[in-house]
Amino acid sequence: MSDEQRPVTTTDAGIPAPSDEHSLTAGPDGPILLQDHYLIQKMAQFNRERVPERVVHAKGSGAHGYFECFEDVSKWTKAKLFEKGKRTDVVVRFSTVAGELGSADTARDPRGFALKFYTEEGNYDLVGNNTPVFFIRDPQKFQDFIHSQKRRADTGMRDHNMQWDFWTLSPESAHQVTFLFSDRGTPRTHRHMNGFGSHTFTWVNANGEAFFVKYHFKTDQGIQNFTDAEAKAMAAEDPDFHRRDLYETIAAGQEASWTLEMQIMPAAEAENYRFNPFDLTKVWPHADYPPVKIGRLVLNRNPENHFAEIEQAAFEPANLVPGIETSPDKMLLGRLFSYPDTHRHRIGVNYLQLPVNRPKSPVHSYNRDGAMRYENPGDPVYAPNSYGGPRADAERYGEGYHMQVNGRLTRSPYRLHPDDDDCTQPGTLYREVLSQTDREHLVGNIVGHVKQGATDEMRQRVIDYWRNVDADLGARVSKGLGNG
Ligand code: NDP
Repeated sequence: MSDEQRPVTTTDAGIPAPSDEHSLTAGPDGPILLQDHYLIQKMAQFNRERVPERVVHAKGSGAHGYFECFEDVSKWTKAKLFEKGKRTDVVVRFSTVAGELGSADTARDPRGFALKFYTEEGNYDLVGNNTPVFFIRDPQKFQDFIHSQKRRADTGMRDHNMQWDFWTLSPESAHQVTFLFSDRGTPRTHRHMNGFGSHTFTWVNANGEAFFVKYHFKTDQGIQNFTDAEAKAMAAEDPDFHRRDLYETIAAGQEASWTLEMQIMPAAEAENYRFNPFDLTKVWPHADYPPVKIGRLVLNRNPENHFAEIEQAAFEPANLVPGIETSPDKMLLGRLFSYPDTHRHRIGVNYLQLPVNRPKSPVHSYNRDGAMRYENPGDPVYAPNSYGGPRADAERYGEGYHMQVNGRLTRSPYRLHPDDDDCTQPGTLYREVLSQTDREHLVGNIVGHVKQGATDEMRQRVIDYWRNVDADLGARVSKGLGNG
């Protein structure tokens, strides 16, 4: 690019900057001046460059690509991204768990394997690991587990004694610790490891039938691991080895891919299975539930901006689309809360409006405002409303999981008991408790309020509303509104 073609530096407000290198001073050797706004902006912005790093999975790398479903799985799920032949854009983030933002990629650790599918019905996030199980089965223990793997309070250092203290006091950790201390604890690259949804999820088909499922993304590159010595040597030689490998592979025009295999358990079989199928420390043996190949995940595009597309990528297991639901897996249920909570803290309440996080399908929610809001819904600002705002569509979900797995989970309307009506008690209050003066004031207050701005149609609805509570009250409101 010739010098004439280079853009002019500006402030972040777009105003041409007077200099990239020299501060404004009072005379050639004089002190710098507060009115050098560009200098002040540079310093202030720099001080705020970091968002809080993730407490877990801080060091991560990722890429974009697509998922293509090549099997007809409609007998198990109605999720649109799993329609045969459907191709869905994805972003994937791989990570270590315990290390900080600058830690070595090849450290012994499980690896995060987080996927965001930009489906036509909103984002579906599958936030898994390179292992099919986890150290614990109850989210009550998660915070303590992570504390034991991070740093001591006194020395600020990690402590192997503390790690083994937690593990040996938590025998449910043995399965995952076996993976961790095998060579799969030091994968050679992100490309040469499998990914697992780990949790048990629920798939629901168009007939409302529920199936419990587990996701296995099997690497098409083949499993390759480092030995302990190789991993340690690479940590010293190139702490960014996994990030570099993924980036350079894709930059060289190669793809990385995984085949998705599903284990599928009809919901009715869960109750009498020989162990708890929702226990995150256990796999389902393949002999019991043979994996079925259904699709292919391909990574083929590097981020252009690591911070914007990978560091600020926010995955949340609660992002489930119609046809995919949670399960009684306690760890999964705990994560439904903790992920969006940490994103609100780490990135800000409107993190879902960032380009990497925003769905490619339209958003029509009544959520609004807040720090850094970019797009804001207009009127009407509430539901239910009579003015054409978005309406929920229960039909898309059906009640498959709720009915078959836990009959007590429901979104049914309130009226379940004989006396569950809305008007008896306010009517009693009006007739039997309020004094004559109270009743007059009530009518006067309602009428005065409605007269200030309610439309003719709304006036009639208000009259009907009060008639349902008490006929006399309705008549008096009607009269007050000039209806004789
Ligand atoms: P299978 O023999 O049918 O499956 C064994 C599984 O282990 C395969 O998925 C294999 O797939 C994986 N595996 C192979 N070598 C290793 C290794 N060095 N470290 C970790 N995993 C490896 O038996 P089961 O389904 O009955 O499972 C037996 C044990 O295998 C389980 O207790 C569990 O520890 C482990 N396992 C089971 C999985 C499951 O979902 N059933 C998944 C992964 C491990 P691959 O090499 O492609 O990963």
